[in-house]
Amino acid sequence: MAVGPDETAVPRANENPPTGLHVLVIEDDPAIGRQLERGLIRAGYGVSRAADGSQALLADPADVILLDLGLPDIDGLELCQRLRARSSAAIIAVTARSEEATRVATLDAGADDYLIKPFGFVELLARIRAVLRRINPIESGQLRHGSLTVDPRTRRVFVGDRDIALTPKEFDLLSCLAEDPGRALTRQEILERAWGGHWYGPSKVLDVHVASLRRKLGDPALIETVYGIGYRLASIE
Ligand code: CA
Repeated sequence: MAVGPDETAVPRANENPPTGLHVLVIEDDPAIGRQLERGLIRAGYGVSRAADGSQALLADPADVILLDLGLPDIDGLELCQRLRARSSAAIIAVTARSEEATRVATLDAGADDYLIKPFGFVELLARIRAVLRRINPIESGQLRHGSLTVDPRTRRVFVGDRDIALTPKEFDLLSCLAEDPGRALTRQEILERAWGGHWYGPSKVLDVHVASLRRKLGDPALIETVYGIGYRLASIE
């Protein structure tokens, strides 16, 4: 497999914080396996590897399975079916064969997507994100605004694939802004919502939390100051 011109676009080590997602790489070629493992770790995934079908069937559960169809011990399509029968992970089959019959058989065997060798690493990451989106459709109640996702059910916030750790107050503050992007909320309204009406001190506490939120979200323009009123989430052009 040539991880070709895209390789320069692979993020540097530690550039991406952990996604909390685990990828099982099933690949009998150790050099390719190592290369995939390194790149996926840099992209923030946890990675385990299996060098053949038997190892794959014994591996710990994963969120995404990258399955090379050409393995020494078990036929790739059969393995795909067996993995599908025991796991709800997203399965991306990797094949050197591009014939339509193979592609159809791969999907019939339970794969969610397939990649044809050689492929670029950037494409692999995009496919992984896409299958995860398809498999885990947006939970009802999730608030989405551009690359920002606020999930009130799990109280998690993402910017793109980046998991943002917020304090409870920061989360409440961001949630009330994200419920209606573009609408200006008064300082009083925000304090009542996020502090439950139990804040009697100086309202400067709000500005401190907004400053911290802006820093954590990495885009200071996302939360706009409405002078003399309060704050709003920036509209997306
Ligand atoms: Ca192989």
